[in-house]
Amino acid sequence: MRVIINRNLCGHPPFACEQCFGEFLRTGAYPDRSCIMDVVEDAKPEVTAVITSGVHTRELVITDDIREEVIYDGYMKFADFPDDAYEIQMPDGNQIRKIIREYQEQHPQAEQGK
Ligand SMILES: [Zn+2]
Repeated sequence: MRVIINRNLCGHPPFACEQCFGEFLRTGAYPDRSCIMDVVEDAKPEVTAVITSGVHTRELVITDDIREEVIYDGYMKFADFPDDAYEIQMPDGNQIRKIIREYQEQHPQAEQGK
């Protein structure tokens, strides 16, 4: 499955978003966090995290080799983001609506999962 994460939606520091994704990996429970936008089935056994942070997007396949580390240390160290992806601003309502609208336009089949 592909987990679509957009950190611009929550504006939290990386550790908060990482912790919440770790929880998702560990328990399979859909976290109540705004930066996890969508979960898409792609018929693959492993989880692919599609992480947007600032203007950057990275895909990270959570293999068994890194799974534990991603759960407890977070995905940022594996995702090869530049420094400016770490410092994102708290979004306002207009930015949140814009991000969600753009995502829905690009993915007409997408459900918001909530
Ligand atoms: Zn977050």
